[in-house]
Amino acid sequence: MKTKRQCPRCRQILQPTSLLEGGRVQVDTCTQCRGLWFDAGELQTILKATTDELARVDQQLIGAITDRSASPGEVHYGPCPVCCAVMDRCAHGHRSGVVADRCRTHGVWLDGGELEALFDWVAAGGHLLDEQMSVERRRKEERREQARAERLAAAGVATGDAAGAEHPGHHRSGGWLADALADVLERVAS
Ligand SMILES: [Zn+2]
Ligand SMILES: [Zn+2]
Repeated sequence: MKTKRQCPRCRQILQPTSLLEGGRVQVDTCTQCRGLWFDAGELQTILKATTDELARVDQQLIGAITDRSASPGEVHYGPCPVCCAVMDRCAHGHRSGVVADRCRTHGVWLDGGELEALFDWVAAGGHLLDEQMSVERRRKEERREQARAERLAAAGVATGDAAGAEHPGHHRSGGWLADALADVLERVAS
């Protein structure tokens, strides 16, 4: 049987609690200060699991979370519930406003309310990140489309068809350039 784990804040014995359905992840909770201990990797598992369900959100929320961090309260360096070494304090994620206590070897401690703040941050951040990525994807798509159109135009002129006759100067040089480039690229590739 493993040694009882103590809350790094109030020294209460921590109670194992399942945060995910099916008891997939068991965290240790302090019934007094509502803090939570996550063994290494557990926090990531839980945040990942919640991303899907909390996929809505909003700038306002991110603002509120950031505000929350504006009043940090008292900063303590608590002992790791597993090895009792004093834990590091580190910000968890960009702008999450959550400063977790971390034992490099054993895991992460979150004070009461910090997990909720992290959930909010994941929801807000996940959403924003998604948006950013789809804009980026769209831009790439447009660039690819443009490149394809240019290639087609160049190819049309190279074979001397009607499209080329409409804008002889521009397209002829484009066709010549494209051919030369294709030639160079082919040589580089082989
Ligand atoms: Zn406690
Ligand atoms: Zn430890």
